[in-house]
Amino acid sequence: MTATKGYDVIVVGCGSVGNPTAYHLANAGLRVLVIDKRSAAGQGENKTAIGGVRATHSDPGKISAGLESIKIISTWQEKYGFDIGWKPGGYCFPVYDEYIENTLKGLLPYQKGYGLKIDWVGPEEIKEIIPGITPDGLRGGTYSPLDGQVSSILLPIAFQREATRCGAVYHFNETVTGYLRQGDRITGVMTDKDSYCSEWVVLAAGADAAEHSALLNIDIPVTPDSHEAGISAPIEHFLAPLVVDLRPGPEGKTANFYFGQNKEGQIIFCYTPRELFIGTNRESLSEFLPVLSGRMISLIPKFKNLLIRRIWRGCYPMTPDGVPIIDHAPGLRGLILAVGMCGQGLMLGPGIGKNIASMIINSKPCISEEAHACFRCDRDLDAAKTETLK
Ligand SMILES: Cc1cc2nc3c(=O)[nH]c(=O)nc-3n(C[C@H](O)[C@H](O)[C@H](O)COP(=O)(O)OP(=O)(O)OC[C@H]3O[C@@H](n4cnc5c(N)ncnc54)[C@H](O)[C@@H]3O)c2cc1C
Repeated sequence: MTATKGYDVIVVGCGSVGNPTAYHLANAGLRVLVIDKRSAAGQGENKTAIGGVRATHSDPGKISAGLESIKIISTWQEKYGFDIGWKPGGYCFPVYDEYIENTLKGLLPYQKGYGLKIDWVGPEEIKEIIPGITPDGLRGGTYSPLDGQVSSILLPIAFQREATRCGAVYHFNETVTGYLRQGDRITGVMTDKDSYCSEWVVLAAGADAAEHSALLNIDIPVTPDSHEAGISAPIEHFLAPLVVDLRPGPEGKTANFYFGQNKEGQIIFCYTPRELFIGTNRESLSEFLPVLSGRMISLIPKFKNLLIRRIWRGCYPMTPDGVPIIDHAPGLRGLILAVGMCGQGLMLGPGIGKNIASMIINSKPCISEEAHACFRCDRDLDAAKTETLK
């Protein structure tokens, strides 16, 4: 097949990572084509995210990308006049258990070393940060006031709008089915409608990334596992931070759970199942709401009056060690892998997009080499070294 339409960069996937990548590249003057099989920006896993944005991680790669993301997200409205639902208010991990206290306290020097504003605060302060929290056994917790929340519905519109203004071209309802190559160089993509050539291709296909292993003859170790979430009707604003309770639930179903109140006043929530649901099944389970509401009410009893509007299920594109892969594809020039965002693609996407643009434009990442090394595809992917704050 002869490809006639040429671009500097083709981005495969217009999700949490591909869309901001296109924005950064187009903003720097490159000719960019974004292709997505779905009908609009951010309609894959992106829109299933509950909107948490933190730099509070436990490895330098995610911390650096998270800090870049927060800079971009928190100043977006001021810069472009477009409301993306940014709500500063931080992240709070309340603690009732000695083991979790020691784990979180152990991370603090490291996190502070990477410039994070985060501290351990006592139970009285936690009661002010999370009004109505159950006081019995509360030991304190960590609080990082510069983290926040954003709308996973508005963010993709914002990035597409600005990328388009800079000349990026978006093709929706079009599936990438193969790659053009000359020797060891990827020179473009084939789709179910046409073919396009380019200097660079960025693969940002989310939970479907592993399907490209066979097309490219490389191993892309991304496994989807599905998670449920939900949202309430709006209530009066009372909760500033996104709250993460790292305790496994007494019901035996939940490994941890987290929730926040978005800019519209809705409570938005999610839990990590103790036994992961591997695969892309997106049907809601009848057990999700009873289990989740049990946990929410035991932490904040006044949640018993919450009216739930809807629930949904989406996928984490998981890597074995819980850290994304952002790297040149092994043995293939011209292809960058931007896959395996796990449970954090929305918050890392803007920063990772900036990093990928720098890899293409400046031939090096914009975060430090040490931080970027966390994302390399030849790292030790041993699951036993899984990142603490997944
Ligand atoms: C319940 C839940 C809550 C979450 N909460 C948060 C949160 O609070 N904060 C956070 O940061 N993250 C959160 N996440 C994780 C986040 O949603 C994902 O990490 C992120 O969306 C993945 O980004 P991505 O760009 O890799 O994938 P996606 O956003 O899914 O984008 C990939 C795109 O590629 C397209 N595509 C795939 N294959 C092809 C092809 N062959 N041709 C063309 N297009 C293709 C897809 O249609 C899709 O649009 C949550 C996830 C779930 C399930």
